[in-house]
Amino acid sequence: MPSIFTKIITGEIPCYKIAEDADNFAFLDINPNAQGHTLCVPKKEVDKILDMDEAAYMKLMAFSRKVGRAIEAAIPCKRVGMSVIGLEVPHVHVHLIPLQSMQNATFQHKVSMTPEEFENTASKIRKHLK
Ligand code: AMP
Repeated sequence: MPSIFTKIITGEIPCYKIAEDADNFAFLDINPNAQGHTLCVPKKEVDKILDMDEAAYMKLMAFSRKVGRAIEAAIPCKRVGMSVIGLEVPHVHVHLIPLQSMQNATFQHKVSMTPEEFENTASKIRKHLK
């Protein structure tokens, strides 16, 4: 059965899309640690990042760097944190999180955003990818 992220990539489930290339896809996390919290996922479904082949892993890291730099330009923050962590969804995902404090990195404190705020945030980040 396809993962929830594969369903997002194929358009079966909606998302606030940030970017995609031939191998990877980025969208806003629906339960964000901070405004602009983004997930970068490989289109090929793999459960654990260390099981990816090296070429695919390097492509995901390069894609995540590009998206992370756009987030840093678009969202006021001290820096963008990058983390591959979590047990919920068995499909590799790189969390890119704008950090104002380390509280944003704990996954214990969430921010609530309206659909309009999600769309505005995604649009701001997308502008910096052009
Ligand atoms: P984890 O595997 O623990 O990193 O958790 C999965 C992450 O995916 C969490 O941060 C969720 O908020 C996020 N997530 C789950 N479903 C969706 C969705 N439909 N759209 C965007 N983000 C999601």
